[in-house]
Amino acid sequence: MTDVLDASVGLVIAAAGVGRRMGGVDKALLRIRGKTLVENCLDNLGGYPGVCAAIIVGHRGCVDEIRSEVGQHPRCFPVEVVEGGPTRAESVDLGLKSLGERGDFVAIHDAARPFASGDLLRRLVEAAKDSGGAIPGLPVTDTIKSVAAGGSVDDVVTTLDRSLLRAIQTPQVFRRDLIIDAYEVLSDRLGEFTDDASLLEERGHRVVLVDGEEENVKFTSRRDLLSVDSPSNLGGLTRTGIGYDSHRLVAGRPLILGGVRIHSPRGLMGHSDADVLYHAITDALLGAAALGDIGSHFPPSDPRYSGMDSARILSSAVGMLREKGYRPVNVDSTVVLEQPRLSPYIEDMRKNISRITGMPPVNVSVKAKTDEGMGPIGRMEGAAAWAICSIATLEEASV
Ligand code: MG
Repeated sequence: MTDVLDASVGLVIAAAGVGRRMGGVDKALLRIRGKTLVENCLDNLGGYPGVCAAIIVGHRGCVDEIRSEVGQHPRCFPVEVVEGGPTRAESVDLGLKSLGERGDFVAIHDAARPFASGDLLRRLVEAAKDSGGAIPGLPVTDTIKSVAAGGSVDDVVTTLDRSLLRAIQTPQVFRRDLIIDAYEVLSDRLGEFTDDASLLEERGHRVVLVDGEEENVKFTSRRDLLSVDSPSNLGGLTRTGIGYDSHRLVAGRPLILGGVRIHSPRGLMGHSDADVLYHAITDALLGAAALGDIGSHFPPSDPRYSGMDSARILSSAVGMLREKGYRPVNVDSTVVLEQPRLSPYIEDMRKNISRITGMPPVNVSVKAKTDEGMGPIGRMEGAAAWAICSIATLEEASV
């Protein structure tokens, strides 16, 4: 889509609130995904190339700190930090005055919504070109009732038609002359209005709605922040690892695959019990969390691992994941062995893997292949296994 940039926008970011539910700290300086809320706002909304200036309205006492934070990341538009007033409306008013005559449009935004995107700002500006004012809103999913305040309980008066209701977000975008006029004319009544669009509505101007963004959430509590800063959101929802192992087949050794003793005249040669399937899965799990490989944790030179049941190796890898805040989610694996046929043993292998890793059996796949007489495995000189595993953070995996 081509976007002819014929309109400039000045941002006013209200960041003077002290979040009581945040433990009384200055919201503007709270960090989310490694950046302050204000920096997140500037990075995301600043993705819209029409932004010509930004005014951050900060809480008295934090202005210098916000200024120093913002100053560390120069942008292609000027960013100024000014001191706010006792209420949000007064803070926005001060921000508008600092913005002066910059921008055909003004976008008024709350720092507590760090994820509003540059694309949302673009759509709002496009809509405001016609109407003079545009705000983002989402359909309401809760049933909303109006009540009459009673004594210990309230009486329901009516149930509102939610198809006609929208939950309103910021940024709210207005033609600069209209919002400045509204703030001037209504300066004595600012406390009556719960958002900036209400002032334009009061002045009889048209305000239109554009689709808001689900991600444009408002952070009002420490719990909100923690939910975003969980390891899953910092490092990706799930991670994936791949593992491979092979061992020689020799006479006089037991053949153990996936913890199951297989009837066979020959078994796999190795320092431990040489269970290639457990070893491939272990490497896939370690790999998914970038925790190295099986050899670095269980070196063949270490006599403690001589003849070891590889279930303990796999179990240790699961423990290492857990320490990092992860658990296995699913595994798919393939064992390559010429003889004997493994199908009678597959279900027991899946059960073993499920038990050790904590994954339900439906999330554990074991497949068997031959090499059809080709190469060393085809000549029954050895066996190999491949595995691919997904892991997720503990909270996520428990859902
Ligand atoms: Mg091995």
